[in-house]
Amino acid sequence: MKFKCIINGCLSHTRAQAEELNGFISRFLDPEASDGTTIIFYSQKDERKALPGLVPTQRAELVRIDRYHPESILDALARIEYSDDADLYLFPSGFAGSEIAVRWAFRQKGSSLVQVKHIDCTRDRVIAKKTAYVDHVLATFRLDRRPFCLSPARGCVDRLPIRARDNLVVTEHDFTGLNKGIRAHDFHWIPVEHAKHFENPRFLIVGGRGLQNKENVQFLKNMADAVGAEFGISRAVALNAWGPMHRLIGVSGTIAKPEICIAAGVSGAAAFYAGIEKSKFIIAINTDPLARIIKSSDVVVIDDYKTVMAELLKFFTFDGANEA
Ligand SMILES: Cc1cc2nc3c(=O)[nH]c(=O)nc-3n(C[C@H](O)[C@H](O)[C@H](O)COP(=O)(O)OP(=O)(O)OC[C@H]3O[C@@H](n4cnc5c(N)ncnc54)[C@H](O)[C@@H]3O)c2cc1C
Repeated sequence: MKFKCIINGCLSHTRAQAEELNGFISRFLDPEASDGTTIIFYSQKDERKALPGLVPTQRAELVRIDRYHPESILDALARIEYSDDADLYLFPSGFAGSEIAVRWAFRQKGSSLVQVKHIDCTRDRVIAKKTAYVDHVLATFRLDRRPFCLSPARGCVDRLPIRARDNLVVTEHDFTGLNKGIRAHDFHWIPVEHAKHFENPRFLIVGGRGLQNKENVQFLKNMADAVGAEFGISRAVALNAWGPMHRLIGVSGTIAKPEICIAAGVSGAAAFYAGIEKSKFIIAINTDPLARIIKSSDVVVIDDYKTVMAELLKFFTFDGANEA
């Protein structure tokens, strides 16, 4: 099994990435049957000296690029790896590692899996485990197309300190200037809304596909904010990218137990309903009198959700639901 560890030395936590991959290799790869190389990308000249101390394999390729950008890393990797026949590429955990793992697999016509907790691999296939449906299920995947590009789940193995190697074989590359024509000249991280746990809000408002677009979803969220309610969405809304995935209610997301739940424009599919069935009181607003949720709610309003919500929320105060 020929494997490569890809470390992004342009980020601040280079050592943590190296130790994480070292832990992963020693836990899951057979040292007798594995032949590993570490490729470290870096941009500052003065960082070069410390890099050999961060190599968990017998060989290293140190690659200087202008700065961290997925395209620079992928293009440089393509040049280094053009004639190589690696079976397995290991990328660090976290967003940057996952993104490159998936994109590299696509370029190489291989297969990828991210947030992996366990692997069992041979040259021809990888059996990997990862959690799915917001950690409710431990799923097993079989990957058949080489190269296999994996990124571990954060914390799935203990970090293992790197031991210094006297006979480390180092190859150097300088790809500064490679991506001169790159379109993104400046970038910054946009903080995403952080996942919140809202299993026990007093008051929950959930929007479904009946809201019809992102603007209406935001409109309903603003209404929820205004009355101090937590806001959740159905999977149809999440998959349309009208709202963030971590607000998903149902078996694949949060199982909520609010005192009052208003479900607006939601049909009430079983996978969704499991996320609100523990509510003490459910109000459904739907234009379809035959929608499944109608039978499973305490109060139903057959009408357009916008008109109804505006009227209904007059009965609620800012710090939660009234007894209305
Ligand atoms: C393995 C698996 C896991 C799943 N996990 C989840 C999960 O965790 N959560 C989840 O939500 N889904 C989950 N699903 C998907 C689920 O089966 C449904 O497809 C999904 O819940 C449908 O979302 P929805 O009710 O918003 O959309 P739809 O089913 O399309 O319903 C939209 C509703 O809005 C109504 N409507 C339309 N216009 C208006 C209006 N103006 N005013 C009021 N009402 C209106 C319609 O009458 C309709 O009833 C899962 C599916 C699978 C297979």
